[in-house]
Amino acid sequence: MSEDGKIGMPKPVVLGEVNMENKFAALGISPRVLKAIEEMGFEEPSPIQERTIPAALQGRDVIGRAQTGTGKTAAFGIPIVEKLDRTLGTQALVITPTRELALQVSEEIARIGRFRGVKTLPVYGGQPYERQIRALRMGVPIVIGTPGRLLDHLGRGTLDLSHLKVLVLDEADEMLDMGFIDDIEKIMASAPPERQTMLFSATFPPEIDRLSRRYLQDPLRIAIAPEQVTVPQTEQAFYEVRGHDRIEALSRILDIESVERGIIFCRTKKEVDELSEALRARGYLASGIHGDLTQRDRERVLTRFRQADVELLVATDVAARGLDIENVSHVINYEIPQDSEAYVHRIGRTGRAGRSGVAITLIEPKEFRQLRDLERGIGMRIQRRELPSLEDLWDKRRERLKEEIRAVLRSGRRLVELREVVKELLEDEGEADSLDVAAAALHLHIAGAQAPEEDFGDTGAEPGMVRLFVNVGRAQNVMPADIVRAVANLSGIAGNVIGVIDIYDRFTFVEVPKAEASRVMQALQTGQIKGRNVNVEPARRRS
Ligand code: AMP
Repeated sequence: MSEDGKIGMPKPVVLGEVNMENKFAALGISPRVLKAIEEMGFEEPSPIQERTIPAALQGRDVIGRAQTGTGKTAAFGIPIVEKLDRTLGTQALVITPTRELALQVSEEIARIGRFRGVKTLPVYGGQPYERQIRALRMGVPIVIGTPGRLLDHLGRGTLDLSHLKVLVLDEADEMLDMGFIDDIEKIMASAPPERQTMLFSATFPPEIDRLSRRYLQDPLRIAIAPEQVTVPQTEQAFYEVRGHDRIEALSRILDIESVERGIIFCRTKKEVDELSEALRARGYLASGIHGDLTQRDRERVLTRFRQADVELLVATDVAARGLDIENVSHVINYEIPQDSEAYVHRIGRTGRAGRSGVAITLIEPKEFRQLRDLERGIGMRIQRRELPSLEDLWDKRRERLKEEIRAVLRSGRRLVELREVVKELLEDEGEADSLDVAAAALHLHIAGAQAPEEDFGDTGAEPGMVRLFVNVGRAQNVMPADIVRAVANLSGIAGNVIGVIDIYDRFTFVEVPKAEASRVMQALQTGQIKGRNVNVEPARRRS
């Protein structure tokens, strides 16, 4: 994208497989690391990366005021990977407050160092010593750990810091709050004085200032302060979701919020591709847009979005910048944005042309701190909304269905002709009354509106049906009525379209109409039978 934000992509110069137009290249990063970053799907450096990386590559000490979510891990991870040489021994040490953060940082640096064959080792309390000791003895180049366990290893002589070149304190204020300050000082004191030190912290209480004065030399101070931002008149809300059912949660949100024209923001190109594909598989009209698309493809996607052939545009921040799109009903942050500036940029896309818009953010429990930071940055509270249950969704669908039917009744379209069909059915089907016929017609309507049918293979079911395997059975006191109730209530399909049910000791087979099978599977996976979570999959016919 050009400087003025217009979409106009000059032809990229390709070095091996590395795209040199990539703004990371301007920071002095080597091709192998660039390639890794490209694969991680980062399109351009975040502000903290833009400022930290060149300075750190030159060997300067750095103090960064930055929260989680700003990209600080890569800001120190990239220079660390670049600085490793062939000498054996631990050359970089990252101290983190928690085991979770140690694991995350270790993973992210390993990904950055992939094409340089860099190894990382997370060490934390509660993990057996033997494995850590073996890797440490071999001189793993990058160690990431919590203070207590690192100190243990130093005491036992299993961690040798004599080759250390870079030391990072990540989330220093958290470590202070957890009472780790003495441990940190001891670790720092046992590292060679000529090493480079980087310290990252969201806040700077006096102890952190003292620590940095004592252990850092002429540090470059980088503050990624939330800029003064003006927030557009947009209704703002967040939903708490858990990592594993993010896409399911998003679908429910899309349905309950009646999203007509929405932009869904992701962090990386990879996420854009994966999410737009997953949404299409669930029957949404979604298309992805990011910096890797040719200009022609981008224009094509945008035209389809403007013409409403595509209702959801899945985008990275970079790709969405400078887009001229009006009347977006919803902006959805599938991933929480890096800072309040990015947030305001994103949500500024909705509520235009005098219409009010809605901005929704998906939050994981561990991101609450980031959410609070966002709120502080924009000076507003973001309202919490509860994730709708399947029952709520069904209620909503029912209301929509009734609306659609009322509209047809009002218009009178083809009713005269179709009433004849109903009459014939009532005469033929001696047992069905007009309510049954109407219900069956609605069923066809709902089934027809579903996503294209998936191929479930041969599940051994009747034609038009799919046999599902559910991992509860007689041992859990499951009766046919439990299965019917669960399938009908959770997925909203009528009980009388459910086919054969076979209950065995530890599992059950149930046949459902093919057109409904995906929905039933999804619904059962997230719901419960006899108070238990269940696993559901298409049955495999025994050969
Ligand atoms: P961190 O602040 O280091 O915890 O990073 C937050 C998330 O942003 C992580 O999932 C990173 O992989 C991701 N990330 C870091 N840098 C970038 C970037 N330049 N572009 C897109 N995503 C990034």
